[in-house]
Amino acid sequence: MTAPATETGAPVFKRLALLGIGLIGSSVARAARKHGLVGEIVGHSRRQETRDEAMALGFLDRVEADPAAAVAGADIVMICAPMGAYEQLAKAIAPALAPGAVVTDVGSVKGMVAKTIAPYLPAGVHLVPGHPIAGTEHSGPSAGFAELFIDRWCVLTPEPGVAPEAVAKVEALWRGMGMMVERMTAEHHDRVLAITSHIPHLIAYTIVGTASDMEEATQAEVIRFSAGGFRDFTRIAGSDPVMWRDVFLTNKDAVLEVLQQFTEDLVRLQRAIRRGEGDTLQSWFTRTRAIRRGVVDAHQEEMEPEKAARLTKDED
Ligand code: NAP
Repeated sequence: MTAPATETGAPVFKRLALLGIGLIGSSVARAARKHGLVGEIVGHSRRQETRDEAMALGFLDRVEADPAAAVAGADIVMICAPMGAYEQLAKAIAPALAPGAVVTDVGSVKGMVAKTIAPYLPAGVHLVPGHPIAGTEHSGPSAGFAELFIDRWCVLTPEPGVAPEAVAKVEALWRGMGMMVERMTAEHHDRVLAITSHIPHLIAYTIVGTASDMEEATQAEVIRFSAGGFRDFTRIAGSDPVMWRDVFLTNKDAVLEVLQQFTEDLVRLQRAIRRGEGDTLQSWFTRTRAIRRGVVDAHQEEMEPEKAARLTKDED
């Protein structure tokens, strides 16, 4: 594994303001600092408790209770808060943004960013929405780690006409943290992520909820005998409720469209089971097994903190 670095070794931005310092924000701070990608890092979150925790963990130079104070003088502002907070944050920071600053984000849905944030931005500020496709089911400042982004994809969805230098600098920042970067339209991103991430989470939330609705005796056995399959679903269903509420509220159209297709496929498998059509089942499962091999070959397995720690140790 190669250590990420900028080509010149110089910081990409002078001052990074992070609005939200949980799993993703704190991982950005740790990675950007580790690789010298930014000069100074200022953080903001609503609660004093979170701000104190972040300062104690030591990944910020400064923390501010007021989002406008956090972004003042920053040449890049990265919104790492739940998407439901975007509009209120955009309104609060707009008057304090430095001329020429770049505003970016890490939200899991992209179509909503231009609609929610752009109307508040002053002329001369560049909006470059982004989504690092990397994460765990854990939340908060202590959940972050510098290696979270290594060898994973980051999608940027700038609108046509956004300054190419601004997009290139955001790309350099993510590449410096170890990510592979791809640009696409926000609409395309939201359709792809609906099937690769949003529907799988919805299924996990459903199946774990169904199990907990079963009568009490069965429920205890579900937990006691949960083998790989159900256990993996509980991990996904343990993901942050606020973040996932916002995903389904903001990617409604793409999720409903893909869900329709999924439901039809589920009914097809249900019919095959009812009719005892073994060939149909086996050929479906053979096809999906090949897809699984492709995912493993593309190295898109989850990077858990323990695994990341092992890899980092191996590098030392
Ligand atoms: P997290 O660990 O829960 O952190 C959220 C942070 O935002 C906390 O610092 C929280 O602190 C702050 N926050 C919450 N509401 C706020 C508000 N109204 N104003 C300002 N700050 C606020 O969440 P996360 O997993 O880092 O997710 C953050 C973003 O990353 C989301 O938009 C999500 O879609 C995106 N994302 C997540 C993952 C993932 O796997 N988790 C992956 C890729 C992208 P306070 O409570 O103190 O305000």
